[in-house]
Amino acid sequence: MPSLQSVISCLSDYDPTALPVAHANRIIGEVVEPVRGVEQVPIRSALDRVLAEDIISPIDVPAHDNSAMDGYAFASSALQTTAGQVELEVAGNTAFAGGGAGSQPGAGQAVRIMTGAVMPAGCDTVVPQEFVEASADGSRIRFAADAVRAGDNRRLRGEDLARNQAALPAGRIIQPADLGLLASLGFAEVRVRRRLRVAFFSTGDELRSIGEPLDAGCVYDSNRYTLHGMLRRLNVELIDMGVVRDDPAALEAAFRSACENADAVITSGGVSVGEADYTKQIMASLGDVTFWKIAMRPGRPMAFGRIASGGRDALLFGLPGNPVAVMVTFYHFVRAALHRQMGASVPPLPLMRVRSAQSIRKKPGRTEYQRGILARSDGGNGGEWEVRVTGQQGSGVLRSMSEANCFIVLAHEQDSVRAGDLVDVMLFDGLV
Ligand code: AMP
Ligand code: MG
Repeated sequence: MPSLQSVISCLSDYDPTALPVAHANRIIGEVVEPVRGVEQVPIRSALDRVLAEDIISPIDVPAHDNSAMDGYAFASSALQTTAGQVELEVAGNTAFAGGGAGSQPGAGQAVRIMTGAVMPAGCDTVVPQEFVEASADGSRIRFAADAVRAGDNRRLRGEDLARNQAALPAGRIIQPADLGLLASLGFAEVRVRRRLRVAFFSTGDELRSIGEPLDAGCVYDSNRYTLHGMLRRLNVELIDMGVVRDDPAALEAAFRSACENADAVITSGGVSVGEADYTKQIMASLGDVTFWKIAMRPGRPMAFGRIASGGRDALLFGLPGNPVAVMVTFYHFVRAALHRQMGASVPPLPLMRVRSAQSIRKKPGRTEYQRGILARSDGGNGGEWEVRVTGQQGSGVLRSMSEANCFIVLAHEQDSVRAGDLVDVMLFDGLV
């Protein structure tokens, strides 16, 4: 693994006291390496896991040309009629899904066919039954020649996946559709990377855990709960180590235990510049750790590196203490780093450009992640989509994250936004 110092020394414009978001992510990306462990699991258990092998289709899906409709299969040469009407005799047995290939109709004949049934030999087209006028005894059908074109309503063998075609790439985080795809290829099990183990704790003498009395000047520890939620969504194994007080021995013991039991360690609090507590000191003493001031808002201070203890090592993310800063730094640094460590290749999340309903003050030279609400301008179903910020944007105002449904991403160089300008938004929720 490349050391942090060697990665940093290759950068010409490295400034740890005003590090652009993109630079920090580049450094993190170069230092983080995927875990190697692999396990074989039944496909249902593979949901949200990282595929460890390329999946190549062993069969054609579908295995035969088949009908996409209930109707009548025939040879498309019958469509070349001068009368504009096609008349065919219904021959042989009805072709049902799951039945065999059925009998081949002769010239001037059609076969009654159901959706999914194998196309009879010689047939390349299906006319849906709703386009057809059948005789009273069902022995003859008639339909307009322009009701269908040659090849309509026929699914081709292998059109979903051809044999030997790449179906899913290694590194894919398995989605519901992928489970179905694997099943359609007959796979009972797949190989996935082992789950990451992530340890996390909060630091700060002012923190109290739920159930403890809230002494004067204290706050409940909320960061461990947002971290719990965000990490659960990444499908990692969690090691929640509680609140660690600002005491060198307690901190060292916590960092060592986290490092020996987890692939990554996430802490919150104690990394601000000028912070009097011991967190930074202990982090630095246990490994290759750098302390950044990132050119962003919220979330300026952050520690990143690798710590070692007892012959094991772990990635370290020392996030700021402020509750919104924890979430913003998690989503914009830690998420991608953990994806990389779990062996996943995940494309960057899409940014959408929508109109800002209001002006937003912004200085060039830092990236801002304002919490936004994307909604229709008329509050109903008809208006244009537009975004506004959720009231107070202070980095301690966790309600701003809870109310928001997107980040308004204001890029490093960007200046203030006027009402009506287009801005980039990143949605919180997706369909699957
Ligand atoms: P720090 O980064 O340690 O200076 O903390 C910045 C602010 O975040 C302070 O107001 C802390 O009280 C608050 N804070 C730190 N950790 C937590 C936590 N786990 N839960 C809630 N607030 C926190
Ligand atoms: Mg503190």
